[in-house]
Amino acid sequence: MLADIDTWVLDLDNTLYPAGSALAVQLTDGILSTIAEYYGTDVPGARRIQSELVAEYGTSLRGAMLTGTIDPHEFLGFERRMDYSVIGPDPALAGVLEELPGRRYVYTNGSAYHAEQVLTRLGLTEHIDGVFDILAGELIPKPYAESLDAFLARFGVDPARSAMFDDLEVNLALPHERGMTTVWVTAGTPYEQLAERRWRAADLPSFLRANV
Ligand SMILES: [Mg+2]
Repeated sequence: MLADIDTWVLDLDNTLYPAGSALAVQLTDGILSTIAEYYGTDVPGARRIQSELVAEYGTSLRGAMLTGTIDPHEFLGFERRMDYSVIGPDPALAGVLEELPGRRYVYTNGSAYHAEQVLTRLGLTEHIDGVFDILAGELIPKPYAESLDAFLARFGVDPARSAMFDDLEVNLALPHERGMTTVWVTAGTPYEQLAERRWRAADLPSFLRANV
């Protein structure tokens, strides 16, 4: 069913490792404490500012840059203090990725540093041909068209021959419109087909093993 796919586009957080991981908690804490410090407020205040920034600018990083003076590397400094050892190797996922025909890219709203740390811990680095991060996207995140177009252009991806995996359904609407096969990674049965070129999967290895 995915026989003509030659490019595999993978989100990182909550897609290549499960939602609810201790890493997600650290990410949220890191972003909130950075915002709290930068804006001189407490955590509840930071949460309010974050939701305003995300609503207006797509990510808090972009919002903080456009409305203030913070440098992206300074904003992302909390990543250097995160404990990535809370996630471990995923040999089942590594095994199926290795056998996928064609190229495999990580397309993330996170940073390249964060992606590299996560891929290393999961044991997936050697199976990934490239990472498109939030800085490569000039801070414009998924689901904006500018981000998707920059990603497709960067790696010369033909939407009709690519499949994109993401835990946020909102990130998959535009890719589907552009002709990509989409796989919404979320809890439930191991996998199911929702419509033509639209899938839902809870378990990536079993989905890929059964359908590629
Ligand atoms: Mg995600």
